Amino acid sequence: MSHDPNCLFCKIVAGQLPSRKVYEDESLLAFHDIHPWAPVHVLIVPKQHIAMMSDLGPEHAPLLGAMAVLAPKLMRELGVTNGFRTVINTGPDGGQEVYHLHMHVMGGPRPWLKG
Ligand code: 5GP
Ligand code: ZN
Repeated sequence: MSHDPNCLFCKIVAGQLPSRKVYEDESLLAFHDIHPWAPVHVLIVPKQHIAMMSDLGPEHAPLLGAMAVLAPKLMRELGVTNGFRTVINTGPDGGQEVYHLHMHVMGGPRPWLKG
């Protein structure tokens, strides 16, 4: 599995940096965002290092499908009952800050810090 030693989320996946984990399986990790925009804000990341969405190929379709299916399951488990927002930022103009693919999943009562 590809790992970038300089990547923040690879370090979280490897347990070299702490995170508040909410889910883990052989291919995905989910943890609370350190600066939440909403009452519940988790990040779903693939364990393998993929920098961003524009690096995806057809072979990654099952991985992205698993991320999309995990989002509502996590929101249910975290008590989010009134809808949620999913965001994947890509590249500079997409506002991406951490170059390891991640899906933001946000929910909870509004108002939210962003959006
Ligand atoms: P991006 O702008 O790349 O889509 O979002 C990166 C997200 O990662 C931001 O919401 C930011 O708060 C979060 N983040 C950055 N560093 C850390 C960290 O060390 N731990 C956790 N849990 N989240 C982080
Ligand atoms: Zn990485």
